[in-house]
Amino acid sequence: MTTIFLFLITFLILSSCLPYLSKATFVSEVDDETPFTYVEGTGKGPKKWGEIDPHWKVCGSGKTQSPIDLQDRRVQVFPSLGKIKRDYKPAPAVVKNRGHDITVIWRGDAGDININGTDYKLLRCHWHSPSEHTFNGSRYDLELHVVHLSSSGEIAVIGIVYKYGHPDPFLSKMFHHIKSVGKEERNLGTVNPGVIKFGSRKYYRYIGSLTTPPCTEGVIWTVVKKVRTVSREQVAALREAVHDGFEANARPTQQSDGIAVQFYNPSGGST
Ligand SMILES: [Zn+2]
Repeated sequence: MTTIFLFLITFLILSSCLPYLSKATFVSEVDDETPFTYVEGTGKGPKKWGEIDPHWKVCGSGKTQSPIDLQDRRVQVFPSLGKIKRDYKPAPAVVKNRGHDITVIWRGDAGDININGTDYKLLRCHWHSPSEHTFNGSRYDLELHVVHLSSSGEIAVIGIVYKYGHPDPFLSKMFHHIKSVGKEERNLGTVNPGVIKFGSRKYYRYIGSLTTPPCTEGVIWTVVKKVRTVSREQVAALREAVHDGFEANARPTQQSDGIAVQFYNPSGGST
């Protein structure tokens, strides 16, 4: 009787560990793959990111972590922010499967955005589904992050949120590449970042963090107020392309009590 009991216990422990063991092996085999997940209970989920690597501590202890819920009743309207100044240009780009997301990287000079007189060079963009930022508690289907860097190493990210509807023109341009992208970089030829539509000139601005480890703080966030549309097929392609377990790759919203969120409306009104 005792033998059968022990056998059962051993079997249960082994079978519950195996999925994590195979995931860990898989993860370490892939370049750029990072040993974190979006699933709590795996030991590497969002609540544990700060404990996985000493360089990721701020994921757990940071006070200005992203994403956050953007609440209209909490924003301060700042007409002086001015409209988003972007000067993008077509440049050679590649698409890469980083395992936890699909990333487009511009290899040449793809232009920049200007915030408070500082230029931030366009580097790359990637997608999260569902959205990471939420608006008044509502989560949408997809979020694009367009990542920029200043000459002094400051990061500025533009976030654009999408719900299901008409296809997104930028994703349409590289749809077949995304569907078949493997571990290797895939050349996209010249990609015009000007195709990325912002959709409105209203936006939220706050200082937060990267939403994936190492969760670096001091990131200047610009989240466009307008919810744009993306087709179900486009979101499905992004989800299928990433590795198993990363189909949903949105970090939960973080505590935002200490974060001041500014809002810009070209007509000078509130949200
Ligand atoms: Zn992101």
